[in-house]
Formats: sequence, C-alpha cells, structure tokens
Amino acid sequence: QVLNEFLDLKGNIRVFCRIRPIGIGENFGCYRPVVALDSRNVLLRFFDNKNKSYSFDKVFHHGSSQDEVFSEVEPVIKSALDGYNACIFAYGQTGTGKTFTMEGIPESPGVVPRAIEALFKQAMDSNHVYLFSFSMLEIYMGNLRDLLIRQPTKAMDPMPCLSIHTHPKGEIEIENLVAIRVSDLTQALKLYRLGCRFRSTASTNCNITSSRSHCLIRISITCSGAPERRRETNKVWFVDLGGSERLLKTKASGRRLEEGKAINLSLSSLGDVISALQLRKGHVPYRNSKLTQVLKDSLGRDSKTLMLVHASPKEEDLCETVCSLNFATRAR
Ligand code: ADP
Ligand code: MG
Repeated sequence: QVLNEFLDLKGNIRVFCRIRPIGIGENFGCYRPVVALDSRNVLLRFFDNKNKSYSFDKVFHHGSSQDEVFSEVEPVIKSALDGYNACIFAYGQTGTGKTFTMEGIPESPGVVPRAIEALFKQAMDSNHVYLFSFSMLEIYMGNLRDLLIRQPTKAMDPMPCLSIHTHPKGEIEIENLVAIRVSDLTQALKLYRLGCRFRSTASTNCNITSSRSHCLIRISITCSGAPERRRETNKVWFVDLGGSERLLKTKASGRRLEEGKAINLSLSSLGDVISALQLRKGHVPYRNSKLTQVLKDSLGRDSKTLMLVHASPKEEDLCETVCSLNFATRAR
C-alpha cells in the first residue's frame, strides 16, 4: 500500500539512465565525454567546452551492477501483483547495453529473469492465488511474430504475422499469440530462453539483426480472491527496443533503410505517446505504430511505465547520446 502511494506520488512514468562501461580495447575518445555526476544527474561534455546536464529519476554509472539496477526496477514489478499493468522499456543506440540490462548474460542475469523470480517469490509469500502466463514476440518492420513458435527455417518462407484487437473495454488482445501457463521459475525461464533463441535464429535466417526489431515479453497475472485488486488479470511487459541510432544519416540503403525507417517511426511514436501522457493531453496517439498499439492498455495513466535509457560512454557516440538523453527527457 505504502509502495503504491509512493509510486502514485512520483507519477506513473519514470526514467532511469544507465551508462555502459568501456569495453576491453575501447577508448573514451580524447576526453571523457559522459559523466554520471551523482545518482540523478548526467553531464555531457562537448568538444567546445560547452556542457549539458540531464536529470533522471535514477542514474546508473559504468560500475553499477545488475543487482543495483534490479533493486530500483523491482517496485514496478511488484505493483503488477497489486493489479497494475506495467511496462519496462530499454531504449538506446545499438551496443549500449539494452539486452545486457534486460536479458543479461549467464553469469549476470538481467531484469527479465530477475523479475520472473521476484514475481514467483512474491506470489508464494502472498495470501492470494496467482496464475502466470508467458508470451514473447518480436516486432519487425511493423509485423508481429510469435517467438514461442518455431520460425520457418528457410529464409524465403513467409513468416506468420499476428494481428491486434481492441476489446470494447479497451483491453488489447493479440490474436493467436501463444500464452503458456507457467507454474514455476524453472518453467518460465526455459520458455524465456527458448524465445531468446528463436529470436536469434530467426535473425540469421532472415537477415534480421536483433537491433532492427523490438523484442517484447509479456507476463499475464491473474489473481483469484483479491477483491481489493484493480483488475482480475493484468500484465507486465518487458521491451528490448530496436536500436535508436539514426540510420537515415548513415549510408543505409534497400532493406537496411526500410528497417531503419520502421524503427525510427515506432520509436518516435512511442515518444509521442509518452509525452502526450505526461502532458495529460486528451488525445494520445497510440495508433501510429504497432508497438504503441500492442502496449496501449499497459501504457497509460493507470499503468506503471519505466524507461531505461542506455548511453555509450564514448566520444564518437556523443551525438547519439544527446539524441537518446533528449528523447528520455521528453518522457519525464
Ligand atoms: P544492445 O542490446 O543495446 O545493442 P548489448 O546489451 O548487446 O547492447 O551490449 C553490447 C556489449 O556490451 C555486450 O557485449 C554486453 O555484454 C556489453 N555490456 C553492455 N552493458 C554492460 C554492462 N553494464 N556491464 C558489462 N558489460 C556490458
Ligand atoms: Mg540488443
């Protein structure tokens, strides 16, 4: 209860920033352009000595652990057990650590596996009975593809696409999306790994790199015997967004160019939706992309939204970092 009041007080949209560490064999550039000043502020230092600072609800610097990140994300996950829909996004240029944050690596699991574990644990400790189901899909060039169904093996095979329906009450349904009832952590993680694997195999077969598609994980939660809950079934979405780099400015052509356009369009429509919600505008433009249509009932005034914006520490990426931090600032 206290937790919910706290979340309500802080507003329903929160933005965190995570700065990736410098990798082995990498350099910052000739100076250190991205500085985490404290737990809320980031300073960008430009070549001409002009600085710009940005504030967030939380800043994670290069040394922040997966544990630290998850402990700040956890309240949003927990609000899902109280009947809120929730949406957690990883935004940023390719290579800045979106997948590291969301999926993690075997030695250092990310938000999704930790969230699944936390949900099962909370459910066990509760007086209510919770049922969970798991779905996973990819949005590529405006098409929705189920990641729990084996993908066609030949590149030329057409891929089955899913369509979106809105119920009269406003609930969004993705027609024929596989939703598998999961009763324990092991089972859920197994499905998650399966989905991750299908994502990467689909990528090589069909020339889709994961940076050109959005990966969405949905956990539906049904609670019985809890009259104080807001809904009977609600959902938590985890979204590893396509890379935000502006492909149009590079030398992309053909399919690459089309992919870049699709990503840019859906990311900008996501930005438009979040900013309309923040400004409490009457009209929220959900219809402009598949991404925002899918998330419509989980991305609103009655839901909890968390944007994790990712930034590179390198000088050569500074332009993209400016764009990403501006995008994130617009969401606050
Ligand atoms: P993205 O999904 O945004 O394209 P990745 O998550 O694939 O980026 O990250 C790029 C590389 O950097 C990967 O090898 C990843 O393991 C590594 N990496 C990213 N963030 C971190 C971090 N916070 N700590 C350690 N390694 C990281
Ligand atoms: Mg990635």
